[in-house]
Amino acid sequence: MSENKAANFIHQIIDKDNEEGVYGKEVYTRFPPEPNGYLHIGHAKSICLNFTTAQKYGGKTNLRYDDTNPVKEDVEYVDAIEEDVKWLGFRWEKRLWASDYFDTMYEAAEELVKKGLAYVDDLTPEEMREYRGTLKSPGKESPARSQSIEDNLELFRKMKAGEFADGERVLRAKIDMASPNINMRDPIIYRIAHIPHHNTGDKWCIYPMYDFAHPIEDAIEGITHSICTLEFEDHRPLYDWVLKNVGFWNNPPKQIEFARLNLTNTVMSKRLLKGLVDDGIVEGWDDPRMPTIAGLRRRGYTPSSIRNFCEEIGVAKSNSTIDSAMLDFCIREDLKEKVENRNVIEDPIKVVLTNYPKDKRETVTVENNRNVPEMGEREIPFSGEIYIDGADFMEVPVKKYFRLFPGNEVRVKGAYFITCNEVIKDEDGNILELHCTYDPETRSGSGFEGRKVKGTIHFVDAKTAVPIKVRNYNPLYIENEKGENVLNPNSVEEKICYGEPMIADAKPGERFQFFRHGYYIADSKLTTETEKVFNRIVDLKSSFKPKK
Ligand code: ATP
Ligand code: MG
Repeated sequence: MSENKAANFIHQIIDKDNEEGVYGKEVYTRFPPEPNGYLHIGHAKSICLNFTTAQKYGGKTNLRYDDTNPVKEDVEYVDAIEEDVKWLGFRWEKRLWASDYFDTMYEAAEELVKKGLAYVDDLTPEEMREYRGTLKSPGKESPARSQSIEDNLELFRKMKAGEFADGERVLRAKIDMASPNINMRDPIIYRIAHIPHHNTGDKWCIYPMYDFAHPIEDAIEGITHSICTLEFEDHRPLYDWVLKNVGFWNNPPKQIEFARLNLTNTVMSKRLLKGLVDDGIVEGWDDPRMPTIAGLRRRGYTPSSIRNFCEEIGVAKSNSTIDSAMLDFCIREDLKEKVENRNVIEDPIKVVLTNYPKDKRETVTVENNRNVPEMGEREIPFSGEIYIDGADFMEVPVKKYFRLFPGNEVRVKGAYFITCNEVIKDEDGNILELHCTYDPETRSGSGFEGRKVKGTIHFVDAKTAVPIKVRNYNPLYIENEKGENVLNPNSVEEKICYGEPMIADAKPGERFQFFRHGYYIADSKLTTETEKVFNRIVDLKSSFKPKK
């Protein structure tokens, strides 16, 4: 992908730092997920940005679990996160846990207390809200703000020793209750929570707040550029304040914000995605409709298609929503010259060639990938009974319909011209089969040039057809009349289709273009030796053109 798009504003900041020797030309980034769910495509953007930025400058990237919340850590999430980062093609320098730094964080908090820069408060949450003020009016100082350093130190140590109940006290940074930035109005930096932690057990009953913990984590690891999403822009003064005042570090990391990824036709929040899993709306975190990395992988996306997508959308300073068609475009581009075609028939209609010699069998030659002649050809069986797509026949054709209808002649791709003569139906009027004649002169590759036909359709031989299960996916969310994002009741259509014999060899995870239908992958969980289940990765039409 173009280096131009990659030359984003973050690289400009780093170039300037390097020129001025701020970090001695070193670039060290981190990806800091909270292990409370599976990663989604938004995280992929952050992963790509952190890792490729470090790579560009010969630097390093840490994977750091942000586990300052004492919620039960789920091993499933930790394993999934690591699998996803590796699958995307990245290798971290170190794998770390924020909770490993709790001692240092506590010391830093005591240091603030000793400097008179933090105090223990006992306002109720309601009072706290009232004292905080609003965007238009300054806040009000809490009575505890003027407590002595000794009192604060004693109270903070009592907090640590478990002498207070949850919520009874908090430690607040003493900054400025009149600051126009509400984040600077004496923010809470430690809270009480009598909850055991997966890593530190019962050692702590006080836990640091994100805004206090994160800069310290970055500084301990020697991170140079701490890249995060835009909602933290107003927190940056606090990030800088912490590093300036805990005073352990003379060359503090720099927080840089970028716009988070939003995508049409889906939701992008672990909380909402977990809801879909818990409510059984999807089959799991790796349901092929999910925007999780695990879901996209199972759906058939490739790591390079996702990396290209993240590169293509670029890095911006203002929020926007990307059309999900762009993600479709990236996977089509990646697969179009890599995968082989297979003939697969959806909504099959049987065609009997009434003039085809009884018991005759032959094979015809079809190309494996029309864009890549080097990928060669294959032989597929043909006989007097074939299946064609339901969509390739109309008893009463609409205007400009060039495929099969009574009296019309079409080319069967790779085989012969056929003409439909008769539609055989049951008593209820359902089509049982079509009776057609074929023209033996018109065999593909025979050099026949007698006449042209406007329509070309494809087929599978009825006697050797292999039934497969096909899952055609549609967006998980659609817009309703009011323009709201709502669950799509038809996000998956499951069908039994007929494939050419070679489809029986498909291995789990193998991708194909189902000729004229779309790109498909043999589902990695459900495909067996005897049963083939295919997920539609993306259809063939491309409604999206990237900006030049
Ligand atoms: P969610 O709300 O989905 O849980 P989060 O931001 O709480 O997201 P974290 O695990 O805390 O999830 O995020 C790890 C990193 O990924 C953070 O640096 C965060 O900014 C980044 N990130 C999360 N969502 C997006 C997104 N949609 N686009 C870009 N980066 C994101
Ligand atoms: Mg979070």
